[in-house]
Amino acid sequence: MLEDKDRIFTNLYGIHDPGLEAAKKRGAWNSTADLLSFGQDWIIDQMKASGLRGRGGAGFPTGLKWSFMPKEVGERPHYLIVNADESEPGTCKDREIMRHDPHLLIEGCLIASYAMRAHACYIYIRGEYVDERIALEKAIREAYDAGLVGKDAAGSGWDFDIYVSHGAGAYICGEETALLESLEGKKGQPRLKPPFPANAGLYGCPSTVNNVESIAVAPDILRRGAEWFAGIGREGNTGTKLFCVSGHVNKPCNVEEAMSIPLKELIETHCGGVRGGWDNLKAVIPGGSSVPLIPKDICDDVLMDFDALKEVKSGLGTAAVIVMDQSTDIVKAIARIAYFYKHESCGQCTPCREGTGWMWRVLERMARGEAEHSEIETLLDVTYQVEGHTICALGDAAAWPIQGLIRHFRGEIEERINQYRSAKPHVQGAAVAAE
Ligand code: SF4
Repeated sequence: MLEDKDRIFTNLYGIHDPGLEAAKKRGAWNSTADLLSFGQDWIIDQMKASGLRGRGGAGFPTGLKWSFMPKEVGERPHYLIVNADESEPGTCKDREIMRHDPHLLIEGCLIASYAMRAHACYIYIRGEYVDERIALEKAIREAYDAGLVGKDAAGSGWDFDIYVSHGAGAYICGEETALLESLEGKKGQPRLKPPFPANAGLYGCPSTVNNVESIAVAPDILRRGAEWFAGIGREGNTGTKLFCVSGHVNKPCNVEEAMSIPLKELIETHCGGVRGGWDNLKAVIPGGSSVPLIPKDICDDVLMDFDALKEVKSGLGTAAVIVMDQSTDIVKAIARIAYFYKHESCGQCTPCREGTGWMWRVLERMARGEAEHSEIETLLDVTYQVEGHTICALGDAAAWPIQGLIRHFRGEIEERINQYRSAKPHVQGAAVAAE
């Protein structure tokens, strides 16, 4: 369990004042110029040594990502873009940082921008996050007024500007290249990669897109030392992490915990346990709606980190833990998630545009039992035809929950079909579907 002294987000619940003076008392903006004086290479080396992996879902090492930016600034300026388009169902961690601890993020923006030789940073915030945008803009004004941002930011000699851009509520704009398109004022549709943003990102210039939490933890990593951060969690999965736990628990919550905490401990310690007790647990989606669910027997001892969840064919994703007890209609739940991805597909790629709708319609029928047994295998086959065959990862995000459902709850789908057939022996599933 994480000790209080190791917490980074000391105002996660908004108990204290989010303003600049109070934030400084909690440690923000402490010796920022000194940290920058060690130079770009030192900062990136520290970030690498900390083992921080991106908190937006993919888990790519942050320091390594920063090192991909050109070492010299040529004719094209460099940009840092902060992805605050937090839209993955179940995920509600970045909004708490922006509401209650915005100065950690703003300070992180300066440090990361300096490390990547960027004089400008854009924070792209989700359309629905109006209060969060207002809170963030207030904090940015405070930082400008105090000389922490702007010319000679924080007395570092580095000129640095920060801009907030408010999205329009499209999930796909959380995909980094769709975000860049949207920032440029275009329709938010993902780009083909390569080129990667570090070569040609915003306005064709070298850019790095990072998640809010990844940037907000950077100042503490440098202040307290890479070894401190690397000493929390386990190798390859280090540091503190914000977990968002929702669904059938007694006390849903956001909490900062040590990476690699056992899932059961996370739920029992911070969420008052599963509704009706641990044995009433049916399944958990451990990392936001796009990752495959895991049934109770895996939940019993799985660790909450990138590698442990990958081993059980799921993922840490955004660490948004959705708990489902025995009362859950698991087929219907996954059908609902499939509807979300169908709705949010940008429509560029045929497998995603057509496949997401097709998978959703089949799942809706399966939830009612109106299907043929053979369609389970066909549905699984279609998920594999969508996965990995699209421009961006939304196709994978639509396919994985269904793969998880079939992997762990095939019996429940079959039982549903059998029940429907015994209730209506004169009809076949496919025939019903055609009606
Ligand atoms: Fe658009 Fe889907 Fe293709 Fe992504 S995978 S680019 S969301 S159609």
